[in-house]
Amino acid sequence: MTTQSDQVQRAAGLLDSASRIAIACHLGPDPDAIGSLLGLGLAMQERGKTVHLLTDGPIPRSVQWLPSVDQIRLKPLTDEPVDLFVALDSSDPERLGEVGQPLIANDELTTLVIDHHATNTEFGDVNLITVEAAATAEQIVYVLDALQHAISQPVAECLLAAFIGDTVGFSVSSVTPLTMRIAARLMEAGAALHEISDRILNIRTLDEIRLWGIGMANTHLEQGVLWSVITEEERRDNGLMDTSRSRLSNTLLCVPEAYVAVSFAANSDGEIDVSMRARPGYDVGSIAYELGGGGHTLAAGCTLKGPMEEVVRRVVTMLKQETTDAVRDS
Ligand code: AMP
Ligand code: MN
Ligand code: MN
Repeated sequence: MTTQSDQVQRAAGLLDSASRIAIACHLGPDPDAIGSLLGLGLAMQERGKTVHLLTDGPIPRSVQWLPSVDQIRLKPLTDEPVDLFVALDSSDPERLGEVGQPLIANDELTTLVIDHHATNTEFGDVNLITVEAAATAEQIVYVLDALQHAISQPVAECLLAAFIGDTVGFSVSSVTPLTMRIAARLMEAGAALHEISDRILNIRTLDEIRLWGIGMANTHLEQGVLWSVITEEERRDNGLMDTSRSRLSNTLLCVPEAYVAVSFAANSDGEIDVSMRARPGYDVGSIAYELGGGGHTLAAGCTLKGPMEEVVRRVVTMLKQETTDAVRDS
């Protein structure tokens, strides 16, 4: 049987023996994706490796201040030689976007997948996937420990940002005493919890809060399913050109009558970003997976083609089924 620590050792071995490493995280990256990308990348640079950091982007403003963020490349590599490809926080190869495709397609290249999504398809040659990990960054810490690599302040800042993003400031059910011990280590290495939390969780642009206002005003509650809609017209009429996801779903779950919450937001590609959250006991991960997306049991998402009314009807019907089934099972 392969244990998690075997996989950590294998991952560490691959990183140790490679000298030119390409690392990519998922498109539409969140703080865990960017924080893990930079955290692992900077640590490997500290070990003398040549590192290429890749994402399709866009890099959210909340992490644009992270150390060495300008090293991240938003275009595929061309002829740069690489001996190891690391895919981070991505449940399937498509999720890596354009920057990942030439690397995935290269059969000669070893791929290491480091992730914590239950929906991961294990597309690597070595897969370090721990569903219990609160963030992909947690796995990076295990790998650095296996390499006996001391965590520097810049690496600690990136990794703490990753944790804060995926755990909403260490407040969700995936957080364990172990998560808190790792967070304490990152703070001891020089990462400022309060400051990083503020940047990731609190600071919002005027456009973002206006977008939230529209979503908040457009909410519906039926059978324990709370949903909000931001249409293309609303986006346009308000001059809101920001392409980032609205991230409303976390907030919507504050309503006690809601067991699951979902936000539907038209994006600038003419598609609809669907972001789902559930209370413990309910599962939105499998629904997102069925819809071609992915995620975790309690936080998942997908991107669907419109029209909006049809997408809303389809997803809400599936979520109502989930609240009914979960109640029946309990
Ligand atoms: P979000 O609602 O965007 O915060 O996403 C919640 C979780 O679902 C995160 O772990 C995402 O990585 C995952 N997720 C969101 N959209 C997709 C997608 N289209 N495909 C796979 N996973 C997704
Ligand atoms: Mn992510
Ligand atoms: Mn993550």
